[in-house]
Amino acid sequence: MKRLWTPWRMAYIKAPKDKPNGCVFCAKIKAAREHDRDNLVLFRGRHSFIALNLYPYTNGHIMVMPYQHTSNLELLDGATLKEMMLLVGDSIRALRLVANPQGFNVGMNLGKVAGAGVEEHIHIHVVPRWGGDTDFMAVTADVRKIPEMLPETFDSLAEALKQVRRAVRKKRKR
Ligand SMILES: [Zn+2]
Repeated sequence: MKRLWTPWRMAYIKAPKDKPNGCVFCAKIKAAREHDRDNLVLFRGRHSFIALNLYPYTNGHIMVMPYQHTSNLELLDGATLKEMMLLVGDSIRALRLVANPQGFNVGMNLGKVAGAGVEEHIHIHVVPRWGGDTDFMAVTADVRKIPEMLPETFDSLAEALKQVRRAVRKKRKR
């Protein structure tokens, strides 16, 4: 993937990494559900959950994560792995509804050397892509709008996910 022009990520790079209260992803889940919007938690499943990335590469950058705090993908059980992939699918459907991307980057960075920002708690990135999005973002110089758009993006994606989940439930009942 071409490196995107993402100046707001400096806030993340400069933020202290040794948080006294532990893992940032576990903190999202331990918090009460009423704080899900503040914590950018879009959906809670049985074994895993969907959240918007606070330091996105593009608008609509989603992460699917297990509840289990682990840096080892190979330690997750089958039910968790299956649900995570289903939630990746739901995320793609929701992004299609909201933003009509032309493609997606879906993947994981395992370990710091592989580029993981939070290496102690694995997560699958779902990044929507549009043709020429790197150039577009660099040229318009309006990239700083993306983090400001997080609450708006959250609301439309949360609504789209509800639609997607309803459709999935209906299909399973048939
Ligand atoms: Zn964790």
